[in-house]
Amino acid sequence: MQKPNNRLAGQTCIVTGANSGIGASVARSIGRDGANVVVNYITHAEAAEEIAHQISEDNLCGEAIAIRYDVSKEDQVISMFRQTINHFGTVDICIPNAGLQKDASLHEMTMQDWQLVLDVNLTGQFLCARESIREFLKRGMRPEISKSLGKIIHMSSVHQIIPWAGHANYAASKGAIVMLMESICQEYASQKVRCNSIAPGAIQTPINRPAWETPEALHKLNKLIPYKRIGIPEDIGSAAVWLASDESEYINGTTIFVDGGMTCYPGFTENG
Ligand code: NAD
Repeated sequence: MQKPNNRLAGQTCIVTGANSGIGASVARSIGRDGANVVVNYITHAEAAEEIAHQISEDNLCGEAIAIRYDVSKEDQVISMFRQTINHFGTVDICIPNAGLQKDASLHEMTMQDWQLVLDVNLTGQFLCARESIREFLKRGMRPEISKSLGKIIHMSSVHQIIPWAGHANYAASKGAIVMLMESICQEYASQKVRCNSIAPGAIQTPINRPAWETPEALHKLNKLIPYKRIGIPEDIGSAAVWLASDESEYINGTTIFVDGGMTCYPGFTENG
């Protein structure tokens, strides 16, 4: 295991949907760098408790707790922040990562599946960002802890720019994150809030199991990835820690694509 370097010591970070896949790796990476971590989850409490336990064991400075809240519900997100602030004192970093897919051709997509994806993937991101900013403004700067008032890192997707047939609800939710994130940056940067996104490519997690569980599926997937390997959750975890730390202080209102080149039109590799 990599030695922690404590870039986030003294800070508290909420990671939503942190008991699985990308969120779990982000939570571990953030904890390894010294922050207190809130491992938010909605199902599988035992996985969340186990991740929080591992982070607390690893972390030389802080601790982790697992708390269950549905990010798509306003009252629950407010309660999640209240519980976090009661426990750790404040929130310095928020990584709204929770997300899901409900795939269907557009003409067969139900209102329910459209709404659920938008509620979790977009409204959940809005609610977490709003509660973060409320807390950042109330608390004020702590220059001994960070050069920024607070940091928000939205978990977006390459599908914020790549259209996705059969997944219009998902692509629409991720496309909207761009404007949400950039508008937050424009509105609060002067107060030293940093708001950015990470846009993962294909990362090996439960959300996309059919795309990697057989050698044939993986071979097909690799055609979309110039770097010729599927991403792993740690690829996102290491980017998130850096983006949360003062090392990236001047980065604001930006999407970092962590995708092995997926957004570089791989279909044109052999002259189109
Ligand atoms: P995952 O299914 O392993 O994790 C998603 C997490 O979100 C789970 O823990 C799930 O329980 C949680 N969640 C769902 N609804 C929730 C709710 N209402 N409240 C709280 N938590 C909720 O999938 P993942 O791949 O780790 O996805 C994490 C994020 O990364 C998602 O936003 C996803 O869109 C994004 N992403 C993933 C990939 C990929 O290839 N895996 C690519 C691009 C973007």
